[in-house]
Amino acid sequence: MARIELRNLHKAYGSVVAVRDLSITIEDGEFIVFVGPSGCGKTTTLRMIAGFEDPTRGEIRIDGRVVNDLEPRDRGLGMVFQSHALFPHKTVAQNIEFGLRMKKVSADERARRVREVAEMVKVTHLLAKMPAQCSGGESQRVALARTLVTNPSTFLLDEPLSSLDAKLRRELRAECDRLHEVLKRTFIFVTHDQEEAMTLADRIVVMRGGEIEQLGSPMQIYSDPVSHFVADFFGSPSMNLVAGEVFHEGGAPRFRTELFSIRLPASCNAVPAGPATLGIRPENVGVDPQGHGDVVLPVRLVEPLGKDTLLYFDDGTERAFVAVVAGLAAATLEPGAKVGLTLPAEHLFLFGPDGRRLAR
Ligand code: ATP
Repeated sequence: MARIELRNLHKAYGSVVAVRDLSITIEDGEFIVFVGPSGCGKTTTLRMIAGFEDPTRGEIRIDGRVVNDLEPRDRGLGMVFQSHALFPHKTVAQNIEFGLRMKKVSADERARRVREVAEMVKVTHLLAKMPAQCSGGESQRVALARTLVTNPSTFLLDEPLSSLDAKLRRELRAECDRLHEVLKRTFIFVTHDQEEAMTLADRIVVMRGGEIEQLGSPMQIYSDPVSHFVADFFGSPSMNLVAGEVFHEGGAPRFRTELFSIRLPASCNAVPAGPATLGIRPENVGVDPQGHGDVVLPVRLVEPLGKDTLLYFDDGTERAFVAVVAGLAAATLEPGAKVGLTLPAEHLFLFGPDGRRLAR
């Protein structure tokens, strides 16, 4: 069992508030991912759970017991860091068994457990090597094994994949997923990578400025973002966000910019007239090379990706308006070509001047 409750957890460094009155219950066996931009307080939260950082105030409970005053080693948690921090003068096997030695586990038992976890994360062939002889991905597997061997109730992982290249990241991401399936332990994972959060998490905690901006399943976060910030953070390419204004015509809500004016869904009936930002995901933009649509824009750039083609349009901003079209047919479009774009009402998001979602 490892149910972790954070109650009004707060951490200030002098006048800098790193984590502000954060409350959340992480269920036993849950894979929870804290995600957000640099400086949002993810690492500080994780370090307080681990016991490496004292909260300024607030409570941390593990299975109902307040652990604020417990030493890190007495909390039953295992931490994996971004830098693998292996002992350079010990072999991989000695690195992995280190935690067991500290606990005075017998040599036979140590050897058995090291073999077992080495197999689990596929580093058996590395056991006699020194860390300097291991690649980045191999070192990170060893770091995982070193934590695994201590059999923690909860794994705390601080950007464990961020020093790896894209392919290895995907490989080890799948590995983390598999370990979670097999071990059925609680995983608390910190990352600034939205894709990692989306693929791994049962629930995502989106942090901003030391606070929880949104908490929900990956699907909820993606399809029902509470704010401009969340909408912009998740999805690749990111959501199109266009500044303009809401107005009402004949009782129906509409949105206009200098380039276009479109009807808003009935859910926006009560939204007052005034400045707002319209959002639509690139995969929901309809593309018509014949030039019919809610707005006609010239192509700026075409990116054929194989499975899809990304089309960037000039909308008078730096950022460009993006559409994703399946297949390669759109790849023949030339820069400058005028293309019709449809923005279906059911896929539109609207955000107020304070960044909060209007008409959820
Ligand atoms: P990153 O992804 O860059 O690690 P993060 O979201 O993990 O960012 P934290 O490392 O938790 O963010 O930092 C949150 C805030 O607290 C930042 O403003 C940071 O500068 C500040 N901070 C963190 N540790 C300390 C410290 N030891 N002393 C002073 N300020 C700190």
